[in-house]
Amino acid sequence: MLLCLGHARAGEIALTFDDAPLQGNGFMGGMEKTQRIIKGLQAQNVEDALFFVTTGNIRDEEGAKRLKAYANAGFHLASHSHKHVSANKVDTNDYLMDFYQSHLTLQDYDNVLKLHRFPYLHYGQTQEARTKIQSHLNDLGYGFGYVTVDNFDWHINGRLLAAHRQGKQIDLEKLKQLYLETIWESIVFYDQIASTHLKQPVKHVLLLHENELAALFIGDLVAYIRSKGWKIISPAEAYKDPVLNVYSPAFSFNKQGRVAALAHEKGVDTKLLRHESENAQFLDKKLQQQQVFKSD
Ligand SMILES: [Zn+2]
Repeated sequence: MLLCLGHARAGEIALTFDDAPLQGNGFMGGMEKTQRIIKGLQAQNVEDALFFVTTGNIRDEEGAKRLKAYANAGFHLASHSHKHVSANKVDTNDYLMDFYQSHLTLQDYDNVLKLHRFPYLHYGQTQEARTKIQSHLNDLGYGFGYVTVDNFDWHINGRLLAAHRQGKQIDLEKLKQLYLETIWESIVFYDQIASTHLKQPVKHVLLLHENELAALFIGDLVAYIRSKGWKIISPAEAYKDPVLNVYSPAFSFNKQGRVAALAHEKGVDTKLLRHESENAQFLDKKLQQQQVFKSD
């Protein structure tokens, strides 16, 4: 690994949370999760964050209330499709119909940014599909809610919920350390790709999910990122980055985020554009080694 943590520059990064509103469960109710995320961000004086809404997840009044709570707290919402479909796997018209449903649903909310984030970061299987999708999104005034820092927070979260269901002991302190370090290493990894291959500092967009890990640790994560000399910026500011706003449907490698996509366009092998922690087995091994979950 060529990670050189000591030399990380003082960067800028915006926070985004996908799949909102994700259902509650026995570990934590949905409304509690929303309230904890809001409190965690406010306690750290984070002025803005962006919640990418999968509108099909708004199953009831509570789901709608949770989204309104984010908007009322001054945060923003944007589109992450209606049914979380993959643009690489469904017909382009079906994809656009699903997108349009999320567009209509979001009309009922305040603080909505006209940005669309593709589920699975799938932009369409062929250049033709990507071109058609882009042109329809642009016609409706939408830009792309790209990410620059991908990671597997969703996998760690799945293991947390499974451990809870299985009645295992959860060492929250160890879980927090693993979460903070994993996310931070991903930030450094993609920032180094930007420095090396794009030759310019970029404003980063961190991909997180609206999950229990965020509810437990978002305040700690913000403090951790700042302790490295980094600044949390608003998503609206991040999305103005001129270096990263250069998407073309000719880009064939989008699923590790925009920095990786641009590095790939410059000829970097895709194998070098994915951090080692974007791997279920890698994370499972870490969870085990650090004894985050223990049976009685
Ligand atoms: Zn998603």
